[in-house]
This record gives sequence, C-alpha cells and structure tokens, in this order.
Amino acid sequence: MDDNCLFCKIIKGEIPVEKLFEDDDVLVFDDINPQAPTHFLVIPKKHLSGPAAASMEDDGLIGKVFRTGCEVARKKGIDHYRLVLNNGEQAGQAVFHLHLHILGGRPLTWPPG
Ligand code: AMP
Ligand code: ZN
Repeated sequence: MDDNCLFCKIIKGEIPVEKLFEDDDVLVFDDINPQAPTHFLVIPKKHLSGPAAASMEDDGLIGKVFRTGCEVARKKGIDHYRLVLNNGEQAGQAVFHLHLHILGGRPLTWPPG
C-alpha cells in the first residue's frame, strides 16, 4: 500500500467506488469518467506503479487481472471490448497504480489517439 496513491485509498475503502468484483488479489470498479458505455478498471490490490513495475513474481497476478477483466465483461454481456494499460504520462497514465481499462459497448476506432 502507498498512502498517497488514489487507488490504494479506493482499496482501503477511503474513497467510494461502484464495485463490480473483489477478492483478496484484485478489485474491479466502474471508471468515474467513462469513455464508452462500458468502462471499468481492474486493479491488483498490490501497489505496482504501472505495467513496467511488475516483476516475474507478479506474473500470476497480472494474468489474474486480465482474466478477471474478461470474466466481468462476460458477466456484463459484452464480448467485444478493448483492454488498455497505459504506462507513463505521455501514454496517458494519470494514476500510478497499475490498472487495466476495459472499454466496450460501442465501436472502437484504431489506432487510439
Ligand atoms: P489512466 O489515465 O490510464 O491513469 O487512467 C486513470 C483512470 O482512473 C481514468 O480513466 C479516470 O477516469 C479513473 N479514475 C480516477 N479517479 C477515479 C475514481 N475515484 N473512481 C473511479 N475511477 C477513477
Ligand atoms: Zn496504489
């Protein structure tokens, strides 16, 4: 846990979110500023500042982040969606706790901006 991290505060329950799934390892919640009809985030409860901060010991956890996101999408009834991980400010990362975006419910263009 990082006391100054927004998503660690969400994990601790200090900031309310619309939870979609939670277990000992991961938390899934709706994005507060959705960019598509479905837009939720999957975060590991372990504080990792971003994708590049993950090490070999996190391989299983990162896999679980992806699998959980796909399962929540399926439960929401969508099977066409985009999984996004931003690494670094210039790539659009604003919160420095690893998070997987899942966006769907509308056609998505490529390449992303
Ligand atoms: P990124 O730009 O990849 O770092 O994504 C951070 C995401 O976190 C953005 O899509 C924000 O809308 C979202 N976000 C920030 N604060 C909250 C919050 N309190 N609850 C839910 N989502 C949030
Ligand atoms: Zn954190």
